[in-house]
Amino acid sequence: MEKDDKVITRFAPSPTGYFHAGTYRTALFSCIFARQNEGKFILRIEDTDKERSKKEYEENIMESLEWLGLKYDAFYRQSDRTEIYKKYIQKLIDSGHAYISKETVVATSTAGQTQPREEVIRFKNPKTKVTFNDLIRGKVEFDTTELGDFVIAKSMDEPVFHLVVVVDDMEMGITHVIRGEDHISNTPRQMLIYEALGATPPRYAHIPLLLGKDRSKLSKRKGAVPMTEYRRKGYLPKAIVNYLALLGWHPTDDKEFFTFDELVKSFSLDRVQKGGAIFDDEKLAWYNRHYILKLTDQEFLESASPFIPEWLSSGSDMNKRLVPILKEKITSFGDIANLLNVSGELGFIKEIPSYPKEMLLWKKDPDFISARTHLTKSLETIKTISNKSFTADAIKVALWSYAETSGKGNVFWPLRVALTGQEKSPDPFVCGFLLGREETIIRLENAISKLS
Ligand code: GLU
Repeated sequence: MEKDDKVITRFAPSPTGYFHAGTYRTALFSCIFARQNEGKFILRIEDTDKERSKKEYEENIMESLEWLGLKYDAFYRQSDRTEIYKKYIQKLIDSGHAYISKETVVATSTAGQTQPREEVIRFKNPKTKVTFNDLIRGKVEFDTTELGDFVIAKSMDEPVFHLVVVVDDMEMGITHVIRGEDHISNTPRQMLIYEALGATPPRYAHIPLLLGKDRSKLSKRKGAVPMTEYRRKGYLPKAIVNYLALLGWHPTDDKEFFTFDELVKSFSLDRVQKGGAIFDDEKLAWYNRHYILKLTDQEFLESASPFIPEWLSSGSDMNKRLVPILKEKITSFGDIANLLNVSGELGFIKEIPSYPKEMLLWKKDPDFISARTHLTKSLETIKTISNKSFTADAIKVALWSYAETSGKGNVFWPLRVALTGQEKSPDPFVCGFLLGREETIIRLENAISKLS
């Protein structure tokens, strides 16, 4: 078959479980490769395993790709294509490359029942040496003698993996198959089918496995954190795309930050390593933090909005005041809820917890009268700042010289506790700013009356 020059790649997941990051890295590499060659990127759902394939997994894949911004140009689902496969099975039988084999194959259904089958369709293995030039691994050679006559369909209506992959890659004009290294041993069988159909196989690029931090292989069963889980935790898709791209691919310099468009410019398959790449959640979190810090306040609020509790109504002044401090403290937007809940570092914003008056005493100045004097002075000073200029800096400047003469701990500790009722919180200026002038005054008055 003549192919056009246009590059066509595909991502061909089987919807039989949630996918770990490695699967999306495969999709990412395929998508980038298509884009940099001005080609096409296809999503093909490989759901020939009827018992294990589930709609929810398919939906999860599609949602994840969309969220990551990996747009595909065409979509196929293998269960919609049974007639096409049938035609090819027949063709292989007619040309003597496959045969119906009468045998008792015991298939186990999910219900655990074994069902004897009378017929399967097997490919007549010519038992030759198959060689191909993998774009990542170089020359790969297999002796297919050992493989025997392998099954390509359970019946005319039930083709299995090797056949459908070949038929689809052919029909869809796939030029480059970029997939996980775990498929390398499938390649010779698939190439034999190509040959039997008189077609030229695509180029293959088998990308290295993704390993957990303990160097064990990630799989659907182990280490599979669905991509949508990262969305739920408040990761930025651009951080994930950036991190995934660098798992196994090395740019020519030490550059660490890439947008998708920059990846399209810089990526090359021949700089993908052969050895496994380690997926490290902490490194991913580091990337996420980097991208969060780069957001403008407006962008931050947009991304954060699904994570901001209801009581902080969106668009309120409080939200805007909170942005810089949240930005500094979070790794992912999901951290916001913890920071703002009652026991969180910023929990005092919603409501001040009840605290014993002893907490207002600075450890080096454990005296109620002294604490009261400092709080009264702080309150008077704070009242002189107008609502409009009530910033953390303004509060700090107003109180600074008094605190320097009276002792910073002596003044700022009771002030901070009066505003937060918490042992731990940001500094009292930031707390005052976050609460606003009115609430700051109320809380100071309450603390003073506690000490009266
Ligand atoms: N459907 C296969 C899988 O999910 C991938 C097939 C291929 O990329 O050739 O592992």
